[in-house]
Amino acid sequence: MAARVIDGKAHALAIRQEYAVAAAELVRAHGVTPHLVVALVGDDPASAVYVKNKQIACEKAGFRSTVTTLPASTSQAELLDRVAAWNADASVHGILVQLPVPKQIEPQAVLDAISPLKDVDCFHPENVGLMVQGRPRFMPCTPYGVQQLLIREGIETAGKHVVVLGRSEIVGKPQALLFMQKGLGGDATVTVCHSRTRNLAAITQTADILVAAIGQPELVRREHLSPGVVVIDVGTNRVGDKLVGDVHFAEASEVASAITPVPGGVGPMTIAMLLGNTLRAAKLTV
Ligand code: NDP
Repeated sequence: MAARVIDGKAHALAIRQEYAVAAAELVRAHGVTPHLVVALVGDDPASAVYVKNKQIACEKAGFRSTVTTLPASTSQAELLDRVAAWNADASVHGILVQLPVPKQIEPQAVLDAISPLKDVDCFHPENVGLMVQGRPRFMPCTPYGVQQLLIREGIETAGKHVVVLGRSEIVGKPQALLFMQKGLGGDATVTVCHSRTRNLAAITQTADILVAAIGQPELVRREHLSPGVVVIDVGTNRVGDKLVGDVHFAEASEVASAITPVPGGVGPMTIAMLLGNTLRAAKLTV
């Protein structure tokens, strides 16, 4: 039986429309327009596309969006000066430094310098700590997008075995934390796998829900999956001129009950969640 394909683009569009309504209400009630500032350092073409998509999504939702493009030679001190200025600017609600940054810049130093009240990527230790304790200020965009996809698809997580492939700070680790929290979209039994995990297939075969975030093109194959599993593919890998996920879509579709495509699955949800955090940051100021 072919898996149901989860349309992340359609869900993301619906969510962005909800945020557009909320932003219009914020303008009406308080005269505040959510404003996201994005710093793009260097000329990585993939980063430029991601930033452009974020800018378009902001503008379509009635948010203000400022993209500051800085040369690849920008020093860490120069970037930190910019961040300090945005931290102090009351008209700026969200600050995002697009990763990766050129090698002379230590990414953690820059991310830590962003005000926790404007940290719409939810990378600051204070915001990560609040999220871990189950009282989030902001939500980590990609993991929260995955959780929202499952909720909006009516896929229950409570009591289910969720296997997360990957333990990065951006996706895998916060993803596991969200699933283990109490409440809607949580209450799961979570297993996290990484590059040192032995017998990967034996573990993934026990998953009710499998989230792949490893950055390995089509590593997840038929033999990793049990019939009826829900497969969420976070992976975004460029292979030649094609974008492929971490899951072999054709093979997985034959066994899974539902699956996200790449592109058009998790990616659009990440951007929608970024808008949600920017809206939350703006609301913190009124
Ligand atoms: P990282 O490279 O930071 O982390 C990859 C993780 O996968 C690591 O924990 C690593 O283990 C683990 N891993 C690597 N190879 C294997 C393997 N063979 N078996 C099991 N685990 C493995 O990547 P990110 O978390 O940043 O991103 C993961 C993927 O998601 C990428 O394709 C990225 O492009 C995509 N992505 C997509 C987004 C979207 O919006 N759709 C947003 C963010 C990322 P170890 O820790 O041991 O090294």
